[in-house]
Amino acid sequence: MESYIDIVKLKLKEEGYKLTPQRRSIVDIMIKNEGKHLNSEEIYDLVKVECPEIGLATVYRTLQLLDDIGAVSKLNLDDGCCRYEINLNDETHNHHHLICKKCNKIIEVEEDLLETLEEQIEKNYGFKIFDHDVKFFGMCNSCK
Ligand SMILES: [Zn+2]
Ligand SMILES: [Zn+2]
Ligand SMILES: [Zn+2]
Repeated sequence: MESYIDIVKLKLKEEGYKLTPQRRSIVDIMIKNEGKHLNSEEIYDLVKVECPEIGLATVYRTLQLLDDIGAVSKLNLDDGCCRYEINLNDETHNHHHLICKKCNKIIEVEEDLLETLEEQIEKNYGFKIFDHDVKFFGMCNSCK
């Protein structure tokens, strides 16, 4: 199986970009922190440890580029910042996020559970669904 880093390299190449050492360290941080939904500043702080010369603007640009090529997904969880997570598979739909309004914890729901709804929409609206971005706001088990 191809590793995520090879997929990123290939996707960048297709668009005429290279996996530079700086881009590589950003991708490495994303892999190491999978499931954490880091925001741009948090990614910057972590990358800086390994790449002290990197600037925040480069991190912003790289994350945007990785989002454009579909290597990462940008998340807007309504908390005033852009969060990112690696996107391992273009074929699958985005998982859902549960956001605790009390402690701001983000919980992932791996099951899609929307198959019936998607089927209905595709049928009733003649619309082909590629993906969705579902957030649920509420209170987590420990805050409840
Ligand atoms: Zn779905
Ligand atoms: Zn909570
Ligand atoms: Zn997630």
